[in-house]
Amino acid sequence: NDGQFYAPVMPSEMDWRGHYEELYARAEAATEDARARSEAVKIRFADVGCGFGGLLVRLSGVFPNKVMLGMEIRDKVSEYVRARCVALRRDHPGEYENISCVRANAMKNLPQYFEKGQLEKLFFLFPDPHFKAANHRRRIVTTTLLAEYAYVLQEGGILYTITDVEELGTWMSDHMSAHPMFERVPESELTIDPVVPLLYTGTEEGQKVERNSGSTFLNVFRRVRNPHA
Ligand code: SAM
Repeated sequence: NDGQFYAPVMPSEMDWRGHYEELYARAEAATEDARARSEAVKIRFADVGCGFGGLLVRLSGVFPNKVMLGMEIRDKVSEYVRARCVALRRDHPGEYENISCVRANAMKNLPQYFEKGQLEKLFFLFPDPHFKAANHRRRIVTTTLLAEYAYVLQEGGILYTITDVEELGTWMSDHMSAHPMFERVPESELTIDPVVPLLYTGTEEGQKVERNSGSTFLNVFRRVRNPHA
């Protein structure tokens, strides 16, 4: 049913106003400058396969000046997250204006949503494991897709991955380590990154794993400077 839902042909075609209405109004009231306005509403964080949006809700207040988008392939779930954001804004005026969600197949359409170097953070949290070898090509981290992630991430941008499936953790680690556009973020930086604890406590899947005292495998990589530029 891939072809059945909307994706913009290119990022400039996407009208985000309906997603971040209050933010647009605020930007328009703050400045006449078209560049500054567009900067104020530009999406910088994307949570791919955001599920019910728990991470977005937690991140919203930690980074109130960053615009964030969840991308979720399941129609009902993506609608739920969008409605959840609207309800949060209604109940907490002035808050949660920076989060929303679209229904999207991130494996197919990511460069249609984001310009080159637009994103500062990209999240793949507890992605579907696709255990069978024949389905490994459907995993969210592959060499081909890493080139797309490198394209939409800015230099120094961070790609966060976490899973409770050890084999998938190893797979993602191996693929990102082997990719020339990514380098591992060292442990010393992860311990001071305010995002990292939220990967466990902010996501619905992370909470499940914590309740069951299960193991998790965290791999965080940085988008490096293009070695050929
Ligand atoms: N990240 C959430 C969390 O940690 O609680 C949800 C994890 S859930 C196991 C994986 C999610 O990814 C599901 O909601 C699924 O519908 C979504 N998904 C799978 N493939 C996707 C794709 N190609 N594009 C967008 N979302 C996808």
